[in-house]
Amino acid sequence: MDGPAAAGKTTTSLRLAERFGFSYLESGRAYRVLAYEALRSDIEPDDPSAMIELCARMVRNNLSVLLGLDRYDTGELRSAEVGRAVSLVARISELRLRVTNCLRAWAKGNSRSIVEGRDIGTVVFPAAPLKFYLTAKPETRAARRVAQENSGSYKQVLDDVLRRDHADMTRSVSPLKPAPDAIIIDTTDLTVDQVIDRMSAHCREAGLVEA
Ligand code: C5P
Repeated sequence: MDGPAAAGKTTTSLRLAERFGFSYLESGRAYRVLAYEALRSDIEPDDPSAMIELCARMVRNNLSVLLGLDRYDTGELRSAEVGRAVSLVARISELRLRVTNCLRAWAKGNSRSIVEGRDIGTVVFPAAPLKFYLTAKPETRAARRVAQENSGSYKQVLDDVLRRDHADMTRSVSPLKPAPDAIIIDTTDLTVDQVIDRMSAHCREAGLVEA
């Protein structure tokens, strides 16, 4: 499941995972954990060698901590500071390679799973049998995020969405784009239930059975 910031990937992934009995992983948490730890340790988030060392140390210690599966509070990983740093972290190609390896290692033990991110269909799991690319107008995404999280003014959230869209789509390594075989769903005029129903229909077509 790929798509730009605040496109509804997490909400729909969780609902779909529940419906079809999949495990779920939000790959953005790994990049956020790295950004958060960098800020805490006074490491520049755009310093490739320091970030790679930090990542290597975290992988050695505990893969599930790096993946953000425990220890971190969602609020601290979603702070504005982490949100700014994460775009710098996510540009480091060697770091992406390491995170990709961690995501693949997780998926080995969770073969029936939904993984959410920006480069899941294009780079991390190019052979995934079903790929969704969820998108919506930036204004709609920002309005939904404000309603859902009460996290700042509409203007602040829209600026952040636009900044992250630009950073994610224009970086040279693993830029955000739909995989050639991704099913693109524009949710601008759809309710969550309508999105889930469309996705479920594709899942059933692909031979998946509801749990
Ligand atoms: O999904 P979320 O918005 O939490 O991701 C935070 C940031 O992590 C994104 O804006 C993007 O820069 C980066 N990211 C990425 N590749 C992924 C997942 C997230 O580059 N697979």
